[in-house]
Amino acid sequence: MGAVQVLDAVWLVGSGSHPEALADPHDCHCYLVWDGTGGILVDTGTGLGARTWLAAIAEVCDPAVLTGAVVTHYHADHAGGAAAARSAGLPVLASAETAAALATGDESRTSLAAARAAGVYPPGYRLAPAGVDRVVRGGDVVRAGGLEIEVVDAPGHCDGHLVVLVRSAGRNILFSGDCLFAGGRVSLQAIHDCRLDRYAETVIALAGREVDVLLPGHGDPVLRDARVEIGRAAESFRRLVPPPNVHTP
Ligand SMILES: [Zn+2]
Repeated sequence: MGAVQVLDAVWLVGSGSHPEALADPHDCHCYLVWDGTGGILVDTGTGLGARTWLAAIAEVCDPAVLTGAVVTHYHADHAGGAAAARSAGLPVLASAETAAALATGDESRTSLAAARAAGVYPPGYRLAPAGVDRVVRGGDVVRAGGLEIEVVDAPGHCDGHLVVLVRSAGRNILFSGDCLFAGGRVSLQAIHDCRLDRYAETVIALAGREVDVLLPGHGDPVLRDARVEIGRAAESFRRLVPPPNVHTP
């Protein structure tokens, strides 16, 4: 398993599903953004595959040069590797909500206890508590090498969810975590902080951005004209109808 280049400046370094980037079957996609002088990791998986994605990063760049790892939200498949990232010397960047949950490995707030009971995670899996080095919020711009990485608030899938916008090679790339997926789908779950009204506001706002490429936390990327698919989801929400759910078989 190793780093799979997705775009000029983006590699898939970990995944739960991509055969060549597989780190652990429970992991989300973990993306490395690297412009040759600096970069950042987007999401850290469960932690179960951390050794694999750390090795994949090292295929592309010196991990010590990276600005850090942005965690889009506190669900364990995205945030569970934060502790491993820090142990490897990568500062962790996350929202205040994610920071509060990660500080104690809070299984209620993150819905980990419910997800484990539903069979989403192995019975013995626990969320490793982790400090957050830098709390970020919508409008913040993180610099890494020549990259400007804009943080955008995106609640709805869960509280404190962030997405990340990066402009590279003339294209606007949206790292959408669990907010938006190929086909204009969203991730709706019966958990305490999945909020349809907030989700609608988030997606309608994102549809107003000039997004070319959508790199979601799971499933296929959208490598061109992603704004069309985001617009489809937003149009559904404007009609007060939730867009297609990525979890529906
Ligand atoms: Zn999630």
